[in-house]
Amino acid sequence: MDSEFSTNQQGLQQAIALMGAPGDYCDPGLGTDLPEDGIGARQALDALAPLVLAGASRLGADTTFAHMDPPTPWVTWAAALWNVSLNQNLLHPATAPVARDIEQRVIAWLAPYFGMSGGHMTSGSTLANITALWAARERTRITEVVAGEGAHLSIAKAAHLLGLRYRTLPSTASGAINADVPIGDLRDAALVLTAGTTSTGAIDPLDLAGRAAWTHVDAAWAGPLRLTTAFADRLQGLERADSVAVSAHKWLFQPKEAGLIFFRDVEASHAAISFGGAYLAAPNIGIQGSHGAAAVPLLATLMAWGRSGLASRIEYCVALAARLAEFIAGNEKLELRGQPETGVVVWRPRSPVDTLEFHARLPNGFASVTFLDNTPWLRNVAANPNADIDRLADAINGALGSTG
Ligand SMILES: *Cc1c(COP(=O)(O)O)cnc(C)c1O
Repeated sequence: MDSEFSTNQQGLQQAIALMGAPGDYCDPGLGTDLPEDGIGARQALDALAPLVLAGASRLGADTTFAHMDPPTPWVTWAAALWNVSLNQNLLHPATAPVARDIEQRVIAWLAPYFGMSGGHMTSGSTLANITALWAARERTRITEVVAGEGAHLSIAKAAHLLGLRYRTLPSTASGAINADVPIGDLRDAALVLTAGTTSTGAIDPLDLAGRAAWTHVDAAWAGPLRLTTAFADRLQGLERADSVAVSAHKWLFQPKEAGLIFFRDVEASHAAISFGGAYLAAPNIGIQGSHGAAAVPLLATLMAWGRSGLASRIEYCVALAARLAEFIAGNEKLELRGQPETGVVVWRPRSPVDTLEFHARLPNGFASVTFLDNTPWLRNVAANPNADIDRLADAINGALGSTG
């Protein structure tokens, strides 16, 4: 029996201790060649902690408010550890007897919030979007994909992969599809509506759902608002889509790689994108072959928090974004691009202050830069419930002060 493949209590305790005290950032000197002889597992962890742990960005720090990547709750760390130790393969019922059911349970719990009948997990919304448009191509006679200018690049990527034309619709200043511009004939098109665009968090007019041969809603970012009481109606109309994509590793606070694809008619859609194989006891649904049990951390989170615990955290994030937007709107040296619709705040310093120079003066991880109409804007994303808006306001004031 090779002890490397069984539980090492001391080694795992050491790993947890290093998470709290990784030491100062340092590169252990990895060298350019694969080492001939190993140093041992515990030594490897000791050597890696100052690199991997101390060198990482802190997504849960109180000044982090820049990207759609959330900190993860500790219950997911535990579930992820179980996952890698078990290494179930959801491709085969025999190598994942309960994990497959767990994925279906999580899907069954969540699908009704989106008006969908079922679906499956993917490694993210890029894959969920491609999967949706693949099902659309198989089930309808679409020749093109139509999406707003603000759509995520994975939509153009999907059209390219699937051999479909790609056409964009003009958007308003908010970044959402301009509903006043005629959208043309969509009888041979899959229409992609984005619920929470990546750049500005805008919501496309969801009442366009149902106007095309297939409607897909890319709700990678803002989809989880449907689980809240306060903001579910912001995504009204989404339930008329044929498919919906959500990234669980964004506003469901899950570790990567966790995405969800939901279908209105899951049986017909899954049938259209399934392949059997001689050695497969169950058909392989969707794009991925071997894949892990990302549903287990998600199930653990949903059990630990319930819908209300999840919703209150998302609502709190929305409130943080609103407070930041209010601070920006109230400062005459700053320009707020628009009221945040889904926890994404877009703003910049007014001239003569240069946006990129100003950004460089802000704490790391506080804001990201997005180019709109070829001009840089600063962007905050409310994925971190630990963000401290007072500290962020102080940092903005400090950066303004130092511009003289
Ligand atoms: C993040 C995002 C995606 C891509 O999702 P991944 O999970 O990163 O693959 C797609 N669409 C939108 C609107 C997004 O914000």
